[in-house]
Amino acid sequence: MADRVEILGVQVDSVTMPQAVERVENLIAENKNSIVATANAEMLLNATHDAELKNILNAAQLVVADGAGTVWAANYLGHKMPERVAGFDLVQELMKIAPQKSLKFFLFGASPGIAEKAKSKAEELYPGIEIVGTRDGYFKSEDEAEIIAQIKNAKPDILLAALGVPKQEKWLFAHKAELGVPVSIGVGGTFDVMAGVVKRAPLWMQKAKLEWLFRAMLQPSRAGRLIALPKFVFKVIASKK
Ligand code: UDP
Repeated sequence: MADRVEILGVQVDSVTMPQAVERVENLIAENKNSIVATANAEMLLNATHDAELKNILNAAQLVVADGAGTVWAANYLGHKMPERVAGFDLVQELMKIAPQKSLKFFLFGASPGIAEKAKSKAEELYPGIEIVGTRDGYFKSEDEAEIIAQIKNAKPDILLAALGVPKQEKWLFAHKAELGVPVSIGVGGTFDVMAGVVKRAPLWMQKAKLEWLFRAMLQPSRAGRLIALPKFVFKVIASKK
C-alpha cells in the first residue's frame, strides 16, 4: 500500500501518474465497486465543513492530488507528494491504455450533448477505445433508477462521473453497490474540456501552477471560487503541528 498524506483531515495518496494508473488497473481487477477521487484545494476545503464528503474521501480507494494547492499542502506538512495528478490527465492516461487493455468506459455527466462529444473526441484520440454509454448530468431524482440501470447494463470497467464537486462523489458513493462498476471516478469539468467547450490552461501556465487562474479568467462565474485557495492555504498552515 502506497503512502497516504493527511491534509485537513483527508487522506490523499502520494502517487505519481504511472502509479495512479497502475492502482486503477488493480482496482478494476479487484472488481469491488471502488471510488477514485481527484482532490484539489477547493475539494479539501469543502471537506472541512462537509462531513459527508470527508467521510467519502476517506473511504475512497484512491485519492489523487489534483492541483498545485494539494501538492503544496502535502509538501508543506512535511510529506512527499511526487507530482500533481490532475483528474483530466488521469482520464487521458487511462483512455490511452484502454484499447490495449480492453477497458470500457461510461461517460456520465455535463450538459446534454457534451458527453457524446467527449466520446467522439476519445474515439478520435484513442482508436479502438470502447465507450459503452453516455448520459448527461442534469436529472431529477425520479430518473435515477433508470440512469443506474443504463450504467449497470452497459457494464463499463470505469464510470466517469462529471457532476461537479461534491455531487459526483456523493452520487457515486450512494449508488456504488447498485451500479456494480469496478472503478468510478469523479471527474468535474473533464467532459467540457474534451468536448472543446472549456479550454485547458496552456502548458506554461500549468507548469507555473497557474491553471486555477486561467480557469477563473475564462469562466468569470467561477471567480468567486478563487477565495477557496487562500482559505485553504491558511487552514493548512494553521493545521501544522
Ligand atoms: N454538472 C452536471 N450536473 C449538475 C451540475 C453540474 O452534470 O447538476 C456538470 C457541469 O455541466 C460540468 C461539471 O458538472 O460539466 C462540473 O464542472 P466543474 O468544472 O465546475 O467541476 P468542479 O470544479 O466542480 O469539479
